Amino acid sequence: MIQSPRIGTMAIAVAGVLLAVAATRTAGRTESTNPAAVQTPTVSPTHAADMSKDYPVRPVPFTAVHLDDQFWLPKIETNRQVTIPFAFQQCEISGRVDNFIRAASALRGETLTNRKPPGYPFDDTDIYKVIEGASYTLSVHPDPKLDAYVDDLIAKIGAAQEKDGYLYTTRSIDAEHPHPWAGTQRWELEKVDSHELYDLGHLYEAAVAHYQATGKRTLLDIALRTADLLTQTFGPGKKAIWPGHQITEMGLAKLYRVTGREDYLQLAKFMLDVRGPDGDKGAGRPYNQSHQKVIDQTEAVGHAVRATYMYSGMADVAALTGDPSYVSAVDKIWDNVVGKKLYITGGIGATGRGEAFGGNYELPNMTAYNETCAAVGNDYWNYRLFLLHADAKFIDVMERTLYNGLISGVSIDGKSFFYPNPLESIGQHARAPWFGVACCPGNITRFLASVPGYVYAHRGDTIFVNLYAKGTGEIEMDGGRRVTITQDTRYPWDGAVRMTVKPAKSETFTIDVRIPGWARNQPVPSDLYRFADKSAARVTLKVNGKPVPVPATLADGYVSLKRAWKPGDVIDLHLPMPVRRVVANAQVAADSGRVALQRGPIVYAAEWPDSPTHHVRNLVLANDAPLTSEFRADLLNGVEVIRGNAVGLKKDAQGKVTRQPEAFTAIPYYAWANRGRGEMVVWLATTDAGAKPIPPPTVATTSTVTASNPGRKNPRAINDGEEPDSSSDPVSYFDWWPRKGSNEWVEYTFDKPTSVSEVELYWFDDTGHGEVRVPASWRLLYKDGADWKPVTTTSPYGVAKDQYNKVTFTPVTTSGLRLEVTMQPQFSGGIQEWKVR
Ligand SMILES: [Zn+2]
Repeated sequence: MIQSPRIGTMAIAVAGVLLAVAATRTAGRTESTNPAAVQTPTVSPTHAADMSKDYPVRPVPFTAVHLDDQFWLPKIETNRQVTIPFAFQQCEISGRVDNFIRAASALRGETLTNRKPPGYPFDDTDIYKVIEGASYTLSVHPDPKLDAYVDDLIAKIGAAQEKDGYLYTTRSIDAEHPHPWAGTQRWELEKVDSHELYDLGHLYEAAVAHYQATGKRTLLDIALRTADLLTQTFGPGKKAIWPGHQITEMGLAKLYRVTGREDYLQLAKFMLDVRGPDGDKGAGRPYNQSHQKVIDQTEAVGHAVRATYMYSGMADVAALTGDPSYVSAVDKIWDNVVGKKLYITGGIGATGRGEAFGGNYELPNMTAYNETCAAVGNDYWNYRLFLLHADAKFIDVMERTLYNGLISGVSIDGKSFFYPNPLESIGQHARAPWFGVACCPGNITRFLASVPGYVYAHRGDTIFVNLYAKGTGEIEMDGGRRVTITQDTRYPWDGAVRMTVKPAKSETFTIDVRIPGWARNQPVPSDLYRFADKSAARVTLKVNGKPVPVPATLADGYVSLKRAWKPGDVIDLHLPMPVRRVVANAQVAADSGRVALQRGPIVYAAEWPDSPTHHVRNLVLANDAPLTSEFRADLLNGVEVIRGNAVGLKKDAQGKVTRQPEAFTAIPYYAWANRGRGEMVVWLATTDAGAKPIPPPTVATTSTVTASNPGRKNPRAINDGEEPDSSSDPVSYFDWWPRKGSNEWVEYTFDKPTSVSEVELYWFDDTGHGEVRVPASWRLLYKDGADWKPVTTTSPYGVAKDQYNKVTFTPVTTSGLRLEVTMQPQFSGGIQEWKVR
């Protein structure tokens, strides 16, 4: 018999959202109807954590906020109806579910025909994350079929758990021959690459979400058994190991909140405090933020997802223990990110090398990494800092990321995803239905399901209205006082917001109305970006039709409305949304001579389908060109577009640049890459020097290019006319990685038979940080009827790096050319550019 956890009066943070109301409501219902789900567990949450020590500001759970708007609701519904089932299906197709089945079978002593470890030792987390997302949807949208499916998955997970609680399919499938990253012993390579603790961190997040949503303890009990193994294994006088990939800390904080088990919280704190350079393998690396003690860190470095999960964990432990040293560190790190390392889209993690933060002001656009998971982590972190400090500057950053660089991670149909979210493209980027490393889709599923939980928060007798979206929030304040706020608005397309306030009875309390930074001439709370011109349009605020002054400067980003509220009182907020030009700090070299466009919270991009030439990197937008906006219900599920006139640059065969006036359209950045591959640019050139003129057509650029085994790489990079700076130039190249040592080919098919006698090859080679090298050898063939025949060369097939390798041959008239490339053994191969004359 389960002891009823006293969760009626407590709140539990889930994905930055407190779920008190749902927990109370659903726990009883499900427990009473699912006796099988509440078999006596080995450990049982007997009491809730003491909530007097937690974040001073409490969120209003997403279960208490019902959106019926045209922006979020369709995305949340697509997530529920399409993305979550699709992600589960991908977990099955890719063998992630099978990993648990095979691990269980091995633990029963059965002989496996397939003893291969998972592709990556963190593949287990993809299932955990989607279960978390599914649980959130179940808390607001009962679905017996989904509920049963999740139950079945949980049974498979439970069967793969070892007797002492250890859960890691990578080892359990074949402990003698696990994935090489796992090491031969448990925890041996945790600080490097095993991800044993990372997997468990995601399990904890999923387990708490599932328990809160359904009241069933199945997944929670599995999680608690692993947590007990951790508290027995790690800590003072035991193993002093911290997670190589953070999230365990956040997960343990959630388990603490749900169970009141002090040792879980102490372990989370231990895993933060023990982190740092200790001479051990894997320690002392900026890559996983172990180069310094966490409380001594002041700059965001290394892997961006690991970093934001750690900063979020530090905030949690600070809130739960009252230790101010973590707060001081994360505040300093936040200043560094927001002042020097944040993209205008709210994305973070500038470089693909180590999926990491770049240096200060290092914010390249086309090669921007901006992993979707890092955007999710950035919002977790910023929301936690808001809960600590009650300052809307954190919501400003959170909102920017949310509306731009986070939701750009999923397509409008909910079935394909971005891992990196660049700010410029020549068509090399496209969303994919799934990834070998599939962290991002799962993160999207869990985050989108919980978006309504970021709208309101409360502390004492104050309600914070943080986000604007049509719908109703039922806010339960301290002391049980209930207030309903109904928002009527077309936000983010229109800044008029009408809020109808309904307290249970007339009484005095405060409503803090957030005035977004972008409406106060401050795009970000730092000098990293500024609006190029001041907007004359003023924010206005009225209560029951009576104007309330909105000071130009607000200490914490809110206008406080303290009064005796009575049912039916109306707040009218008007946030003007003119089209704004944003310029970057002069130290951001990549954005020099460029502007980004913003309207309300939305950042814009010019994309190829909206340009008559299908080019946008050639556009110059004069600083004084008038810009207007209009709503297009027919486009990209309904978006406000920006229109104006730009100038398009084009180069003729002699290299002379011509200028053509061109109608200009920009779409919300998040909606790009839903209409096929092509050019996109967020930071538009304001002078000719910053634009890329359309190159003159050549035999190569007008060819159709195809390649063997293209994978997710676009062979179009080979003939896009983009001149490389070096063989390792990351801007636009094609490669066959991860294929190594093989023979591959690339073909050009010409429009019509063409006489050719020369080719130039610029090889891709990323020595120093990748596995691609110039080829061992290559040759050129031409099409003769149905056959490919070698050309007769008059010069050797060169493989020099950092230059074009020219080969001349006896002229042939042909409909196509083919390159045959033999890679070096153990290495892959690739091409920057292939010219033909
Ligand atoms: Zn990811």
